[in-house]
Amino acid sequence: MTKRPRFLIEVPEQGLCHGCGGCGGACPTDAITMRPTPQGTLAPDIELDKCTNCGLCFSVCPGHSFDVPYFHKKIYGGPPVHPEIGHYREIYAGYAADKDIQWAGQSGGVISALLIDLLERKEIDGAVVTRVPANAPTKAETFIARTREDILSCVGSKYGPVSAAEAIRLVRKEKGKFVFVGVSCQIHAFRKASEFSKTLAPKIYAFFGLHCKGIYSTHFFDFLLARYGLKTSDVKSFNLRSKEWRGWPADLRIETHDGRTIDLSGGLSRTGPRDYFAQMRCLTCTDKLNEFSDISFGDCRVPWVYDKQTLVQAEGGDNPGQSDIVARTERGSALIQSAIDRGLLVTKRMDWNDLVVSTKPSEKKLAISNLKILSPLLGFSIPDYGVTFQPKDAQDRRAFRLLHIPTLVSSAFFVIFWKVAKFGWVRAFYDKLPLRYIHLAGGLRRRLTNYRRANMTEIEAIYREAGEMKIIPGTCHPLAGKKKSRSEAEEKQKSCVAAFNE
Ligand SMILES: Cc1cc2nc3c(=O)[nH]c(=O)nc-3n(C[C@H](O)[C@H](O)[C@H](O)COP(=O)(O)OP(=O)(O)OC[C@H]3O[C@@H](n4cnc5c(N)ncnc54)[C@H](O)[C@@H]3O)c2cc1C
Ligand code: SF4
Ligand code: SF4
Ligand code: SF4
Repeated sequence: MTKRPRFLIEVPEQGLCHGCGGCGGACPTDAITMRPTPQGTLAPDIELDKCTNCGLCFSVCPGHSFDVPYFHKKIYGGPPVHPEIGHYREIYAGYAADKDIQWAGQSGGVISALLIDLLERKEIDGAVVTRVPANAPTKAETFIARTREDILSCVGSKYGPVSAAEAIRLVRKEKGKFVFVGVSCQIHAFRKASEFSKTLAPKIYAFFGLHCKGIYSTHFFDFLLARYGLKTSDVKSFNLRSKEWRGWPADLRIETHDGRTIDLSGGLSRTGPRDYFAQMRCLTCTDKLNEFSDISFGDCRVPWVYDKQTLVQAEGGDNPGQSDIVARTERGSALIQSAIDRGLLVTKRMDWNDLVVSTKPSEKKLAISNLKILSPLLGFSIPDYGVTFQPKDAQDRRAFRLLHIPTLVSSAFFVIFWKVAKFGWVRAFYDKLPLRYIHLAGGLRRRLTNYRRANMTEIEAIYREAGEMKIIPGTCHPLAGKKKSRSEAEEKQKSCVAAFNE
């Protein structure tokens, strides 16, 4: 049996924390600060003196559970139209008609083009986006962008840990309407927090969701800097996907203050060492396509969209890239249609099969069944999504079971590496390994865990009954609020929850 956390403090301990910052953003007494972990990710640090043990943080935490049937019912009125890609109304491939924005954007620049348009038409007061802070080229932070210049200053994907704690706090305090741009776990946190706050949900004009396979721990950046004998202070910019030296999907470029440029391509850059430096929780995350956003966006990997036979022919050179665009809600659909009608976006309609080819969502949905077997053996927990995924027909299920043994071995390797990554000597050992061996081992793991579309025809999703959203007091930390009498503690908890609702 897999363990289940009873307190917020146990969420990171059990490998369930994705550093989304939902707990920190919801805490009415600001008792939670998001801090770097020895594993190079982010996790909550609780100041027990400030904590009333009201339980809001644990209740909004999507790390241990996110009730997929509940949110499908709430947002879309029932189960999704497609088990792999969730609910959708239209699917497009597209790019910003403004070539500068298309080139600056990570895929087709569609998010930035839409945000600039919404701000300039005063449809929204701000957009919660993520930027690289000044003088910290390997870090990222959320902030509220209010102008075209703000939006253009934070285009592109940041692949390190980003907490949305500050974003949730800001939206709670600020007046107006906002678009929130985030990866799936951040949007899960916002959605859960909105269930307990009357004021948060009406301020969100739309959720723009990024498709997400996972983030890197900061050890990846340290690893690369060590390889090239650099300190963070030497680095002017650190871009995992720079279109400046290689067209879409672009590759890694480090620029130093003394004018050096280090370019790394293909398996030796961001894709190769991924398995050693990914966040543990990304392995058990099943929502690659950001199913609870109004519109979700990713890299379009469908060759015909680029008028090519294969994806390799489409990559690099003078290709600025295109985005997958999945309009999921009525608002999302209307926003995209209006942008197309006014010539802001250039699009082609795709069908669900094109999106599945482009994004391979079943990889993440099926991986969790292997990890369920490993979790009691290796001492980590599995999140509760209220849904089980399996290949749809019996032949595929047999093929999938045969893949179990090699995938179990490779997943075990990943989990063990995650566990030992907190030791400096392990990381020092990796820093010394030739990059090609790092890449070889990563490639082997990917081959072993290859639940590709070619192997599976369709995925079936079995949904549990939708649960109930409620705040459970006393679930932050076993010691929080212990010095108070019972009645005093209950009083404090009530006022804490009331403060969140203001
Ligand atoms: C960690 C991560 C993993 C991803 N993995 C995949 C994948 O596996 N497959 C795939 O198809 N697409 C993936 N994407 C999405 C893809 O990289 C593009 O972000 C997306 O296609 C939008 O492109 P665009 O040109 O429209 O966006 P842009 O116009 O470049 O705008 C991107 C917006 O996203 C915001 N942003 C950037 N990084 C973050 C972050 N970490 N958290 C919150 N907001 C952020 C920026 O502030 C900006 O507003 C990932 C993105 C991230 C951040
Ligand atoms: S229990 Fe309440 S007060 Fe304590 S950290 Fe969590 S949200 Fe904050
Ligand atoms: S809310 Fe997010 S950051 Fe906080 S414990 Fe849960 S998963 Fe981690
Ligand atoms: S893979 Fe999932 S858990 Fe990891 S960063 Fe992306 S959305 Fe969050």
